[in-house]
Amino acid sequence: MEARRPSGLERLTEKAQKLVEQGRVYRTEPDQYGVIGDHGTYTVVRTPDDRLHCNCQGFLQRGRCSHIAAVLLFESQKRVRKEKKEGEWWKTSWGYEGS
Ligand SMILES: [Zn+2]
Repeated sequence: MEARRPSGLERLTEKAQKLVEQGRVYRTEPDQYGVIGDHGTYTVVRTPDDRLHCNCQGFLQRGRCSHIAAVLLFESQKRVRKEKKEGEWWKTSWGYEGS
């Protein structure tokens, strides 16, 4: 059994959350994102086999980084928000407020 060391991944997720909350993740191309990190802006690209690549040192060394986590979070939040918006639009189009 491996000893669980939660710090790395949890810190990464926390950092990713902050990046998204602060609006530092933005889409530049259909398969490309820019992430404004603490030490510069990084480019996260989705490869044809659906993997994410980042050009920062952390990703080059460890194969994962907060920028990629931030893009994943950004995408999942956007999906949720879109669904919610569509749901609200539906409600509005019915034009009923209570009975
Ligand atoms: Zn990165």
